[in-house]
Amino acid sequence: MESNDLRKAGLKITLPRVKILEILSNAKPRHMSAEDIYKHLLESHEDIGLATVYRVLTQFEAAGLVVRHHFDGVTAMFELNEGAHHDHLVCLACGRVEEFMDAGIEEKQMAIAAKYDFEIQDHSMILYGRCARCRQLAKNAKEQGRVRR
Ligand SMILES: [Zn+2]
Ligand SMILES: [Zn+2]
Repeated sequence: MESNDLRKAGLKITLPRVKILEILSNAKPRHMSAEDIYKHLLESHEDIGLATVYRVLTQFEAAGLVVRHHFDGVTAMFELNEGAHHDHLVCLACGRVEEFMDAGIEEKQMAIAAKYDFEIQDHSMILYGRCARCRQLAKNAKEQGRVRR
């Protein structure tokens, strides 16, 4: 996404909007909190405050440029709205969000809806747990505790 997409979404081009759009476009992983975005701005010496980040994200959400997620136990996360459906894995320890898309699960959901004569408009599947990094950190901490004793 780029400045053109701002105009298409009916938003005037301003520096904060361009910068935040750029950060979200290059985000890896694709999901960021407002604080994550603010930290990136600080690192690139942009004089854009956290309140502005929140305001711009809310404008982007209203314009359909970004999707806001409220995952349990994690601050609101934002991602560019690229239209493709996907589901999420959320780490309860560090808040990291990964996405996945599984045709088998999607089909199964359709079958379940059909069985209950239910027309699906949307769904969200969120798997909560611990990422590999956090499990490793916990394991290391445990081992260190053992050595000390
Ligand atoms: Zn984690
Ligand atoms: Zn996502």
